[in-house]
Amino acid sequence: MKESISNHKIYLGAGPAALPAMVLQEASKAIIEFQNSGLSILEIPHRGSLVQSILDESNILVRELCNLTDEYEVLWLPGGGRMQFCMIPMNFLGDDETAGYVDSGHWAHDAMKYGSHFGNALSICSSKNVDYCTLPIFPTSIPNHLAYLHLTTNNTIYGTQWHTLPTHNTTLIADMSSDIFGLPRKFSNFDIFYAVAQKNLGAAGVTLVVVKREMLEKTKRILPPMLCYAAHAKKQSVLNTPPVYAIYISLLMLRWIKHKSLSVLHEENLKKAALLYNEIDRNNLFYPLVTNESDRSLMNVCFRTKDDKTAIEFSDFCTHNNIAGIKGHRSVGGFRASLYNATTLENVKTLVAVMQEFERIYS
Ligand SMILES: *Cc1c(COP(=O)(O)O)cnc(C)c1O
Repeated sequence: MKESISNHKIYLGAGPAALPAMVLQEASKAIIEFQNSGLSILEIPHRGSLVQSILDESNILVRELCNLTDEYEVLWLPGGGRMQFCMIPMNFLGDDETAGYVDSGHWAHDAMKYGSHFGNALSICSSKNVDYCTLPIFPTSIPNHLAYLHLTTNNTIYGTQWHTLPTHNTTLIADMSSDIFGLPRKFSNFDIFYAVAQKNLGAAGVTLVVVKREMLEKTKRILPPMLCYAAHAKKQSVLNTPPVYAIYISLLMLRWIKHKSLSVLHEENLKKAALLYNEIDRNNLFYPLVTNESDRSLMNVCFRTKDDKTAIEFSDFCTHNNIAGIKGHRSVGGFRASLYNATTLENVKTLVAVMQEFERIYS
């Protein structure tokens, strides 16, 4: 397996995001034939032993990387992040109950809005009034009657991240879509955590959901099985035809993460982010979106140029230098470099060199 694929751009998109070359190569082989089965991975039956072995190994690796016992259920569910925004309140927020939401960004806010379809969704703290350019200040005490507290560990669009999580005394649910396995966390602090695969864990089409078994007995409504965590758990992620290929790519990512180790990846991620933030702070043509250093995301680095003309020029300059996916989210504008696990330190060094060259030519 090669460490890189020729002609492959440096891809810094926020999601779908870059995957390691080794994962892409291994995944492409499986399309032609999976494990000497004489079949493509796209053809193997979803209730057969090959798919079972993909699920079994994935679940073991998730438990291992998160340091969890089997009091947690590992599920692979379709529908993406937004489906979790629906399923959480559907399952765990009664009509007359209140759930707390930490309103720290676009996705966090969306999750709260989805919650309000099923019960009361209460903003516990918010940084909306400053366009989410900082993390909100977590209150010293929170209401004690909450059905659960929902937070988003990394705000993909605005580039803020909880490096240490607020303390809590309630059922804690986290959307970890854009930073799962980018840094070590105490996963056993959470009752449920979930992550769409297309950011730091593979391809679009599947969401990893880890749920404490005792939660499965607390479902608040009678739901059709596809919307019910307990039903998915009972069928071990094969209630319906699962997105086998997407799950397999997550398995390849999990093996890759385990091989590198979470602590090594975290160290690399710290280095990558420091390198880029330093350049944004230093370079006269750019300024950061998140000025509060302790709130800055290791995963999504957002910055702007002094004016629109420079933005267009920098955008073209990146394209010319084979760097793609660096445009900011449409709601924020500017630029966003996503430095997920698959982005190498070399990639970031190249980006920084391009920014320096841009400054030399254009200022
Ligand atoms: C991308 C993202 C989502 C949305 O995922 P979809 O699969 O597109 O619904 C949710 N939460 C966070 C934190 C994200 O980064």
